Amino acid sequence: MRLRVLIVEDEEALIEPLKYNFTKEGYIVDTALDGEIALDKIFNKPPELILLDWMLPKISGIDLCKRIRNNKETKNIPIIMLTARGEENDRIQGLEMGADDYVTKPFSINELLARAKAVIKRARPIFAEEKITFCDISLNIATHKVFRGDKEIKLGPTEFNLLRFFLENIERVFSREQLLNHVWKNDALVEPRTVDVHVRRLRKVLNTNNKKDYIRTVRSAGYSFGHN
Ligand code: CA
Repeated sequence: MRLRVLIVEDEEALIEPLKYNFTKEGYIVDTALDGEIALDKIFNKPPELILLDWMLPKISGIDLCKRIRNNKETKNIPIIMLTARGEENDRIQGLEMGADDYVTKPFSINELLARAKAVIKRARPIFAEEKITFCDISLNIATHKVFRGDKEIKLGPTEFNLLRFFLENIERVFSREQLLNHVWKNDALVEPRTVDVHVRRLRKVLNTNNKKDYIRTVRSAGYSFGHN
């Protein structure tokens, strides 16, 4: 799976090498030259990683960081800040505002790539892998194939997304509303009851031949997936 990185930086001389190296590493790279454009892009289509320069036109890096962290859809996106040498206060403030890591300009691109990998892995361990497995279930993010044991299981797109979300969040209990937010995203017309319908379908296909049911219905709370 190719991860999207947004480079928020107003120094064009820095953007080119960053773009080149992150693309070479397999990322899909987008850039924003000021804080306003960045905010637009981030809220419109949240990337998997943000490289954030601190001194930016229009909206500062600190403000941007604060807004990203205060928004439900974007608050978990890893942020690496790019600070100028000697700006100790900026770094402290940045980490307090929720940046995950920082590099000081001028930085080594290899170090930045390594840090990028580390923060992404910390934020969403699953992004590091193409295949998610749990007991005898495996789900391949790249090919969209799902197996239970050695038998392939055919799932509709919603059931696939639902199973993926469960596998990424083993043992956690989610309410129907939370599942709607995460799996159905912004589809406002969907009612909480729809979740039950899709969970039922997922259960039926996943547990064919009396396989163990890993989905737990939690009374008056919602659902969880795991050993239960
Ligand atoms: Ca700058």
